[in-house]
Order: sequence, then C-alpha cells, then structure tokens
Amino acid sequence: MMSESSRRIRIRNVSLAASAALLAATTACGAEVGSTSGDSPGGASSASTDGKTAVTAAMYPLQWLAERVGGPDSAVTGLTKPGVEPHDLELSPIQVGGLETTGLVVYIRGVQPAVDEAVEQHAADRAFDAATAVTPLPAVAEEEHHGEEGHDHEETGYDPHLWLDPARFATVATKLGERLAAADPAHARGYRDRAAATAADLTALDRELAKGLATCSSDAIVTSHAAFGYLADRYRLHQIGISGLDPDAEPSPARLAEVAKVAKQEKVTTIFTETLVSPKVAEILAQEVGAKTAVLDPVESRPSNGDYLSAMRQNLSTLQTALSCS
Ligand SMILES: [Zn+2]
Repeated sequence: MMSESSRRIRIRNVSLAASAALLAATTACGAEVGSTSGDSPGGASSASTDGKTAVTAAMYPLQWLAERVGGPDSAVTGLTKPGVEPHDLELSPIQVGGLETTGLVVYIRGVQPAVDEAVEQHAADRAFDAATAVTPLPAVAEEEHHGEEGHDHEETGYDPHLWLDPARFATVATKLGERLAAADPAHARGYRDRAAATAADLTALDRELAKGLATCSSDAIVTSHAAFGYLADRYRLHQIGISGLDPDAEPSPARLAEVAKVAKQEKVTTIFTETLVSPKVAEILAQEVGAKTAVLDPVESRPSNGDYLSAMRQNLSTLQTALSCS
C-alpha cells in the first residue's frame, strides 16, 4: 500500500516535524486521560459469589461480551478502569492475586502485555483468549511502521483489535458461551442461549455497517492509531494509522509527513481522533491537509454513554458523514 512512499520518505515539511517533536510529551501522557472515574477496577475476583461463576475480563469490549453471555449466572470483573487506555495497563498485586481464584479470564493476547504475562503465570488453565476463537488479521505491514518505536504487541504477528469486526465478535460470543457452559455445566443452557442472542445482535450490527458503508465517495480513513484494521477489512475501507497498533507509539516526523501526503492524495476530508488518545497530532495533520477532525471510537474503553453496540452505531454514523456515504 504505502511501502514505496515510506521507503522514499523525507522530512519535507519542517513545521510538521517540529510539531511532532513538541507533541512527543503530550502523546506519551495519553494513557492518563480520565483515569479517575467510574467503577472499581476489579480487585480480587473470588471463585464464585452467590453461586455465580467469577469471570475476569481484561478490557471493556470483552467485559461487555462476558456480561451479556454470563448474565445472572456469572459475576464479571473488569481489569481496566473506564477511561483508561488499555494497551499499557499495569495490574495491581490484588488484581494478579484475583486471577488465581477466578473461574475464567477473558482476554485477547497481544493487547495488554501485563495481562498476557499474568494470565500465563496465574490462570493459564482458566483463560479464554478471544484471538484463538477467530482467524485474526495479520499485524499492520512492517513498512507502515517505518521509524516508529514501542510496538510491544506485534510479536504476536496479528492485529489484536478483533472486536471492531462484529462478525468475528459474534463468533467470539458463541465460543465464549461454550467455554462458560463447560466451566459451569449447571447453567450451560443459559450461557448458550445468551451467547446466541448476543451473536444475533452482533450479526445485525454487522449488516447495518455493511449496508451503511456500501456506497461512499471515499474509502480512506486516517486514524490516531491503527485500531480499525478489522473494520476496514470487513467493510472495504482503507485505514491509514498515524501511529501503529499501539497508541503510545509516537509517530516519527517522517511518518507524519507521509500520512499528510497520502491524506492529500486521497482527498481526505476528516482526520479521526480517539477519546483516550490526545488529539493534538491528528489536529495538526488536519490543519496540514485542510481537513476536519471527528471522533472514531475504537471502543477500547467503556463509552461515556451507551455500550459497545451503540458506540459502533455512532461510529457508523460518523463514517457515513466523513466518507460521504449515500
Ligand atoms: Zn488499540
């Protein structure tokens, strides 16, 4: 896609390069945004409370899924506080201890290195890795990361943001239902019924997205970090991530110049920002290419209103406006 230009790229634009340097500190603080609000972030998850199976979910989309599928038969604890960017989560000793006794940990290997390590050490026999339930997409091509640092989770070789494809997420729902049914056979029927209902909701969402994005005058989406590979793949969009798979990786001046060039070529009208990542880099790019900014939510954290489904529908509406879909 952009391999040619990334090899030949030069820092053509001094103001863009200087801005990138000034912004390094801002983006590094992205993980702290809004880190104080909300629920208690899952201290100790006890094995079972009131006959409910204890389920530990690593991050919001998985927590939403586990709550839907687990229903009244399970007590779901989230490891990531609302408003916290999940990629670089650190676990407290209490949270790690909780993994020893929880009934099932639901996670995606490759999103949160701290969770991957704790699961391996403390819950390897009671873990459901959603990435194993579907065929994941390969990680963003190496060329697109030219000059970046800090891509910890690329060692898995796949893109972990699979919840952004509702069709794959429906498969995860079904397999999670089976896994919970096996862990808690007395309530197997309930898990399977709720998994089927959740998968049906996700399939309906998939159809809405497919229909809503079928006829658009542009297919290029410039995003803060490359979270939307699954959405792009499923609905035939072309993602240009300013950062790679990890939102904390600072884009190099060369990368910013490259993205600006591609955005101009593609006549991009909107540069997408995220709720939990500083919009500064995206704002500078938008100014550079004469575009607006709009929020596209990677749903990595609990939305301030609604849930996974409503956040995805909001994303559809945002994309329809930005890409002039009919
Ligand atoms: Zn991400």
